[in-house]
Amino acid sequence: KDILLEVKNLKTYYPIHGGFFRRKIGDVKAVDDISFELRKGETLGLVGESGCGKSTTGRTILRLLDPTEGKVVFNGQDITRLRGTSLRKVRQDFQMIFQDPYASLNPTQMVGDVVSEPIRNFTGKSIKQLKPEVMELLTKVGLPQDAYYKYPHEFSGGQRQRIGIARALALRPKLIIADEPVSALDVSVQSQVLNLLKELQDEFDLTFLFIAHDLSVVKHMSDRIGVMYLGGLVEIAEKKSLYAEPLHPYTQALISAIPEPDPRKKKKRIILEGDVPSPVDPPSGCPFHPRCMHAKPECSQIKPQLKEVKPGHRVACHLYS
Ligand code: SF4
Ligand code: MG
Repeated sequence: KDILLEVKNLKTYYPIHGGFFRRKIGDVKAVDDISFELRKGETLGLVGESGCGKSTTGRTILRLLDPTEGKVVFNGQDITRLRGTSLRKVRQDFQMIFQDPYASLNPTQMVGDVVSEPIRNFTGKSIKQLKPEVMELLTKVGLPQDAYYKYPHEFSGGQRQRIGIARALALRPKLIIADEPVSALDVSVQSQVLNLLKELQDEFDLTFLFIAHDLSVVKHMSDRIGVMYLGGLVEIAEKKSLYAEPLHPYTQALISAIPEPDPRKKKKRIILEGDVPSPVDPPSGCPFHPRCMHAKPECSQIKPQLKEVKPGHRVACHLYS
């Protein structure tokens, strides 16, 4: 399949300042050398505990943050250092859907304003001109026509997320980065929103990077899944392969934590000892070694690289070298 987006050796560090002179004393290595690609029309789930760098990865791809090193190639164009009008132009092709739609919607704007705003910003068309288009978008995301004249606070959480989705679709983007789009919603509403996203994906020819903190939400949505730990990508594979045969000890623990609805199918839960270490001072060697029950002496010394061990299945772990 065609590649839409390539992320190459991406690093995004946040400087930390301290002491009397507020000098730079270190870096938060939020994203520390990750590489992956997104194929046209697929959904890649990006999973990991909070603080693992998945949101920072999404924001860096959209150029809401500047990368420290590495490259982002979109549709064959290196967009890593774009600025000004050229950045604005490629931005039309990307949109983000946020975890908390309410926080990302302006409470003083009517839904008609909210949804048409991205188009107005890019084309200079008026709200009035865009009304038929916005009405159509509202229908597509399952909102009633009178939603146009209402304000975000008049809607439920799930409906607000639909408003956010309509807004994200307004410019007909190619890539949508959805950052935990359903984790703030009631479980009963979650699957409705996920189903809507899947429908819209086909209709609008969208490619998704779908960020989530656990493997149960992405299981439904994703074609492939990447697992992040402490700023790095530790495993990436087709969904089937990842669930059937997780290779990285961290992925194995995440999968064992998914609740099994069928009580007859007993599975052993792998409990991880200790906390996620700080991304300011990550462990030497394999960043997972202090918590890994399979750690070998070399694990604390040599950082494992992401390597393909089966077709389409890559893992960063010394057990497979
Ligand atoms: Fe565990 Fe070593 Fe593999 Fe890291 S490289 S996950 S410490 S076995
Ligand atoms: Mg986050």
